Amino acid sequence: MTEETIFSKIVRREIPAEILYQDDLVTSFRDIRPKAPSHILIVTNIPIPTVNDITADHEAGLGRLFTVAAKIARQEGIAEKGYRLIVNCNHHGGQEVFHLHMHLLGGKPLGPLVT
Ligand code: AMP
Repeated sequence: MTEETIFSKIVRREIPAEILYQDDLVTSFRDIRPKAPSHILIVTNIPIPTVNDITADHEAGLGRLFTVAAKIARQEGIAEKGYRLIVNCNHHGGQEVFHLHMHLLGGKPLGPLVT
């Protein structure tokens, strides 16, 4: 069984977060430790631990992550200048919370992706 993370509690609104968007498949809220002027997380409502756990059944929710990322980027006023979407997987990927999520980062030039 998938272990619950803090993100499930945010999805169920049991702990506070600045929620920007929620529907039947995904929830979006501001990252608590922002790495850019706009740093927003978009999570699947169901707790998929990592990208390695994705199955075809998850495709609607995963597609919705992108639809919502584009919508929020427009809302934040960063769509035209651009932004970065990141999904970390496991320890080498820098994943800390094992509930699949997309980072939306923007509001300044982010430079090249470095390791
Ligand atoms: P990752 O390293 O990809 O697993 O990213 C996890 C992100 O979740 C980090 O950027 C954290 O700052 C963020 N985070 C952890 N706890 C919270 C929280 N309660 N509310 C908002 N963001 C959080």
